[in-house]
Amino acid sequence: MGPKDALLGTFAIALACGVAVARQDDALKTRAERTKFEETSRLEDVEAFLGALSAKSNLVRVQTFGTSESGRPLLLATLSNPPVSEPRDVRALGRPVVFVQANIHAGEVEGKEAAQNLMRRLALGDLRPMLDHVIVMIAPDYNVDGNEAVDVMNRTEQCGPVAGVGKRENKNGLDLNRDYMKLDSAEARALVRLMNEWDPHVLVDLHTTNGSYHGYHLTYSIPLNLSFEPKLMSFERDTLMASLQKSMLEAHSFRTYYYGNFEGKAPEAGQPETRTWNAFDQRPRIGQNYGGLRNRIAILSEAYSYLDFKNRIAVTEAFVEDILRYSEQHAREILALTAGLDADFVRSAQGDGEMMLGVEYEIRALPNKVPLLVGEVTHETNPRNGKPMTVMVPDKFTKVDMQDLGYFAPTRTVAMARTYVLPRDDAMKPIVEKLRQHGIAVEELTAPLTAEVLTFTVATSTQAKRAFQGHNETRLTGTYVSNATTLAAGTIVVRLAQPLGRLAAYLLEPESDDGLVDWNFFDASLALGKPAPVSKIMRNVSMSTRALEHF
Ligand SMILES: [Zn+2]
Repeated sequence: MGPKDALLGTFAIALACGVAVARQDDALKTRAERTKFEETSRLEDVEAFLGALSAKSNLVRVQTFGTSESGRPLLLATLSNPPVSEPRDVRALGRPVVFVQANIHAGEVEGKEAAQNLMRRLALGDLRPMLDHVIVMIAPDYNVDGNEAVDVMNRTEQCGPVAGVGKRENKNGLDLNRDYMKLDSAEARALVRLMNEWDPHVLVDLHTTNGSYHGYHLTYSIPLNLSFEPKLMSFERDTLMASLQKSMLEAHSFRTYYYGNFEGKAPEAGQPETRTWNAFDQRPRIGQNYGGLRNRIAILSEAYSYLDFKNRIAVTEAFVEDILRYSEQHAREILALTAGLDADFVRSAQGDGEMMLGVEYEIRALPNKVPLLVGEVTHETNPRNGKPMTVMVPDKFTKVDMQDLGYFAPTRTVAMARTYVLPRDDAMKPIVEKLRQHGIAVEELTAPLTAEVLTFTVATSTQAKRAFQGHNETRLTGTYVSNATTLAAGTIVVRLAQPLGRLAAYLLEPESDDGLVDWNFFDASLALGKPAPVSKIMRNVSMSTRALEHF
């Protein structure tokens, strides 16, 4: 080593020490904070942050709830006083559990930063008393593979972080927010397993919207499908979101409203307003609808992507803070509501009344016009890639009364079966596997059963020409015929009378708009003019069953 090399060596050591010291001081700062909001956290940053936080606070426990398609950890932090590490700890406390997931779309990164800020405040700061009343579970980096694919050319139109963000899809190109029913990805299967095991009462999913130019800092959504429990739908719309909208404005000065997009053109001067504000989808392939289908309080958060990154983090943080505060203040109500939804459903399914499920839907307007805020934007150049970013003009908006097409009502319904019946056939293995992944109880007959069985004969099968998420979605039409039938011992049965009964029906109904027929799981077992393999017993009959094993 020559003198010059020795000098270089000393310099390198000094630098490395400098970095190490800075890291220690900054361990509880997010990468966004350390870089003046030019960058977003990578997996190693989130891991280091959680490590530092759990070293400082015994109330924070860090684990993984699965691994991504690339084998990266799906991080989960639980925050509670006393601390919790397992689902049984949670149940023993009898407190509401709020689960917050960020970064499902890894180009929409402020939820991941806001989640870290909130964890710091919950463990060590002003929000610490909340942990005496609410259990907080946070998955800050759900689509971790998408997150590690940071590129300065991803989502260039949003207002920062200028050094780039991850990509929307997982490693296999799947949109995890379209994967809740088919569960094709390792990530979605891990997430649903978490829901089955921990059963959070409130599910919060953090995003960024780059849609219409509106005047809100953040928009939100709730389950939008009117086939779900009316009590849940009215609680979310009339009580919870009304309260959050108010607190966001009064406590944080942030304007919020339901997520949507303007449909139609702005009118010429003097002409009447014809634009509407449209919600997006009723299908449970999307997280907040899936949560609602499971009888849980589900909230989608969409920070406005034309608001600068720092403020997007702030508004997302405020929104989750207010959800936690609401959950703390209404703990008993939340526990009673969710337990009641499960119990009511099971009780109805044990009774005789028809229980309907939508298979076709249309978007519907709320009863009254709503003053919607139409916003304005300008453009700035991102110095890192030379691309234009769209930037919200602060506090510049016009209030326009328009119709809010805010939910989806069934236009055609079918009566759900009291028992769904599947043949004991190897072709049903993937179906049973999916049902189990969703946490649905699957049983087998232990003795032959004679009952009126409704079979669905396929008249038409329409397959989408364009693939979506690796599938050509399939919809059936057909006719039902009822016959007294004797089912052999070993026949597979799924009872409606279970807390996830409506989810089971949504997956198994042959005409469902988001079921296992739609996602091609039954393709090999379907033929025109032939009965579909799923048949239905429409009344409660006495049957002897046990949990399905060895299949
Ligand atoms: Zn998104």
